[in-house]
Amino acid sequence: MQLTHPAAGSSAGELERLRAENAALLMAFEQLPHGLSTFDGADRLVLANPKFAEIWELPEHVTVPGTTFAEIMAATKGREAEWSRSQPPLEAGIGGVRRREWAMDDGRTIETHVARLADGAAVALHEDVTEKRQAEARINFLARHDELTGLPNRHAAREGLERLLDGGAATGDLAVLYLDLDRFKAVNDTLGHSAGDLLLRHVADRLTRCVRGTDLVARLGGDEFVLLQVGAAQPNSSTVLARRVIAILSQPFDLDGHHVHIGTSVGIAVAPFDGATPDALMKCADLALYRAKGDGRGVLRYFEPSMNVAIETRRALEADLREAVERGEFELRYQPQVDVITRKVTGVEALVRWHHPVRGIISPAEFIPLAEETGLIVPIGRWVLEQACREVAGWPGTVRVAVNLSVTQFIQGSILSDVEIALDSAGLDPGRLEIEITESVMMRDHARSLALLQELRRRGVRVAMDDFGTGYSSLSYLRSFSFDRIKIDRSFVRDIEVSPNAQAIVRAITVLGESLGMSVTVEGVETAGQLDAVRRAGCAEIQGYLFSTPRPAAEIAAIVAGGIDPYLLTLFERPIAESRAPIE
Ligand code: C2E
Ligand code: CA
Ligand code: CA
Repeated sequence: MQLTHPAAGSSAGELERLRAENAALLMAFEQLPHGLSTFDGADRLVLANPKFAEIWELPEHVTVPGTTFAEIMAATKGREAEWSRSQPPLEAGIGGVRRREWAMDDGRTIETHVARLADGAAVALHEDVTEKRQAEARINFLARHDELTGLPNRHAAREGLERLLDGGAATGDLAVLYLDLDRFKAVNDTLGHSAGDLLLRHVADRLTRCVRGTDLVARLGGDEFVLLQVGAAQPNSSTVLARRVIAILSQPFDLDGHHVHIGTSVGIAVAPFDGATPDALMKCADLALYRAKGDGRGVLRYFEPSMNVAIETRRALEADLREAVERGEFELRYQPQVDVITRKVTGVEALVRWHHPVRGIISPAEFIPLAEETGLIVPIGRWVLEQACREVAGWPGTVRVAVNLSVTQFIQGSILSDVEIALDSAGLDPGRLEIEITESVMMRDHARSLALLQELRRRGVRVAMDDFGTGYSSLSYLRSFSFDRIKIDRSFVRDIEVSPNAQAIVRAITVLGESLGMSVTVEGVETAGQLDAVRRAGCAEIQGYLFSTPRPAAEIAAIVAGGIDPYLLTLFERPIAESRAPIE
């Protein structure tokens, strides 16, 4: 078999060279990893390598030269793919290449590239692309699915939404339900990531079971999911679905023997009223979800245009907050903590205020959560530490100053060096600084937080557990670190005169604190009656409006120097009334 035909009149040397070339080509041809076949102008097989027969699983008698293309095709077991069959045939002389694909009966996929030559002859390359296609399909699947739950991912949800909108679903029968699990973070923090993963898989299961086949369930990431409800009258159907989802996710989950309760909030947007593009709809549903979460747990909310305004306000506030430190817009107020027995101010709590250039004073309850979310609490907290130490160092006597640190500072910040710099630059004795943390600090990254607290303690800084009685009130946190102080949350004092429960809790925490060698401070004492009740419960230190609201440094310095208000003295001197009969 010759590949190159020597032209008439070639010299002997030339012939030799051509023979050698042909031999090399034939060798390559035999060893090619692809099947190769050539046909003449009448579509009869001229040449085929062994791989050709192997790929097509052809019997020997059809691979002999002279067999027609049609005969060969008849001997194969498979079907040409739809798309490849509908291509126009290649005309001779064009020089183009036609790609064809066959699905074989045994599940393999074979791809051929056929080139027509000018004389009508054809050269075809054949390749078994089964593994290639499988890998492509796998990659395609991974790119569109969430690995943990196997659900479609954000990308696929967006594509699905786009398809639905293009397909004319924008007629008021398409709803986007955006879900965010309630309390998921607590499960992750307390039971660990593998329990969190398991929970997400259970959630995916329940969601899949509560939608119709035409609806789409996707996981957007973290504990966020989206449901696309199709072909149902809106908004009624999405209300029904959202309620069902809220109910079904409120049922307890069993995570390897741990029973956990979570729940979900749902934000809903309806096409085309709320938006006509995937991005617009997702954004509206997200805004509605944001509102739902703000309104409590297990709540569903529909998008309303006013939500855009709320989010814009928030964005503007965030932008202002970024510059507030440099512009010096913060100020500290100090609220005294008073010893009921000695009637002395033993310390003050530093509470930050923001003087917004336009909006005036903004409460920390409003901007601290925003600062925590954005990480701005780190520079703000650093400023608070420095300012508090500096101001208190200038006052007469040795009152302590308590500074609130948030969990974000423990995770993202550099607390040890911030504290050290604040103390050093103010020249304040570390024993006069007390930091207040909440349980959330102990819950997130427990080991690291504990190490930071121990290091602070080693340097002589005091540590208080704030807002005790809210949240988990876990005794294990009290046992894992010997706090200097426990601060009983305001909510107990609010009810202390009417609720025997609140009384009992304040008394129990006071006794517990004493037995653990921790001071106990009750927050939020506003009335003389509350003071009496707190004293009856055995608590020795109070903080609250009764004595003083948080005030500017200069005023507090005067109180610290001048001692207690004579009117308040009379309050403290009143005999403690006999415990009233509990009101049931
Ligand atoms: P908190 O640490 O529990 O602070 C006590 C809050 O209770 C203060 O609110 C205080 O003004 C208020 N309060 C004190 N006595 C009474 C009372 O008798 N009745 C009532 N109704 N309220 C009373 P404020 O100053 O608005 O601060 C709110 C929260 O913001 C603080 O709660 C704290 O969690 C946070 N915060 C304030 N300043 C800072 C700060 O510098 N850093 C951080 N991370 N958080 C801060
Ligand atoms: Ca506090
Ligand atoms: Ca508190």
